[in-house]
Amino acid sequence: MIQVTSVMNFSKSRMSFSYITHLTCLDCGREYSAREINTYCLDCQSPLMAVYDLDGLRKNLHREQFAARARGMWRWHELLPVQLAHHCITLGEGDTPLLHLPRLGEKLGFNNLFVKEESGNPTGSFKARGISAAISKASELGIRKVIIPTAGNAGGATAAYAARAAMQAYILMPKDTPIVNIEESRMAGAEVILVDGLISEAAGMAGEKARAEGWFDLSTFKEPYRVEGKKIMGYELAESLGWTLPDVIIYPTGGGTGLVGMWKAFAEMEALGWLDNPKRPRMVSVQAEGCAPVVKAFEAGLSFCDFWTDASTLASGLRVPKSFADHLILNDIYESQGVAVAVSDDSILDATRQLSQVEGIFAAPEGAATLAALIKLKEQNWLNVDEKIVLFNTGTGLKYVDVSTVKS
Ligand SMILES: *Cc1c(COP(=O)(O)O)cnc(C)c1O
Ligand SMILES: [Zn+2]
Repeated sequence: MIQVTSVMNFSKSRMSFSYITHLTCLDCGREYSAREINTYCLDCQSPLMAVYDLDGLRKNLHREQFAARARGMWRWHELLPVQLAHHCITLGEGDTPLLHLPRLGEKLGFNNLFVKEESGNPTGSFKARGISAAISKASELGIRKVIIPTAGNAGGATAAYAARAAMQAYILMPKDTPIVNIEESRMAGAEVILVDGLISEAAGMAGEKARAEGWFDLSTFKEPYRVEGKKIMGYELAESLGWTLPDVIIYPTGGGTGLVGMWKAFAEMEALGWLDNPKRPRMVSVQAEGCAPVVKAFEAGLSFCDFWTDASTLASGLRVPKSFADHLILNDIYESQGVAVAVSDDSILDATRQLSQVEGIFAAPEGAATLAALIKLKEQNWLNVDEKIVLFNTGTGLKYVDVSTVKS
């Protein structure tokens, strides 16, 4: 709370804490209020996206002002959905380092290789960003109990932020989710149900329980604000690179909030006039060979994914057989002239070792998958040696120790 208080002092003037105006459905254009509880578009079953008064923000604030504020995701509060500072539920998420990888770069033949190192976030993964935004907004709207189907890390984050918001949390996760995700959720007082199936089965059960008992469903893209928290990674990236964007972003894709969120951030920053060079990165979506619906759809040139049956990979966060935002993910990859790549579990384990041994970064398997994809794309000559390439390590390997290291 200390961070947010100091931020609030800064914006004492007539300026709004948030510049959000409303929510919109990207498919049909129907508008929804950001001051009432909303989920997804009722007409077309599509995600809703937050819209901000970017013209107003452009006039009132300069991009340099954000650097002077206390560290953390909420220093970008004008671009987040919460209306009042004291409604922000924060554990210190965001402002993760963008680390240069000189040794790995030299080894692989890239001169400008970086990793956005998300493992220092509360609860050990970048899920903290999205959940901080979603729980804060839910709390502001008077919601007292939240339910979430999760592949693991979103559950741990939900349990922690719900505890801090004095909310009840109900978490459904596959029974073979990493043990740490189960323990951290229970430790924070959440009710945890282990589902005999995948996140898709858990999602069905969560939806039913939400309707029957009035829980608010925080499923990826079925509520509008997790993606807003994730988008801040895009602002941090641009700020770290002197208000330019990298040439290539390699991102591990499950539900796709980070990829879709960053692409939204780039569009917002362009509208704000904050980018010195509006050239956008090519977005690389990485999935595991055992669950690659986005890769399959991309290779077939489709705009929606088929449900992936029998999904299996040690990168538990990537075990998402079909994202609710598949259409947006694919659209952003195509628009960016990016690509979708599937990598094997063996190559993920190999990449985990390399990142640790060459740069000292013990990545989550999902994060290591981005290095495996880099190696694969290098073999396909898809990358140039001087391009600025950013890998995303989305979580800490420490949460997966029994899954990834012991097996290898
Ligand atoms: C959830 C998760 C992902 C996938 O993120 P999305 O934004 O849902 O695509 C990647 N890595 C880790 C560690 C995760 O927990
Ligand atoms: Zn719609």
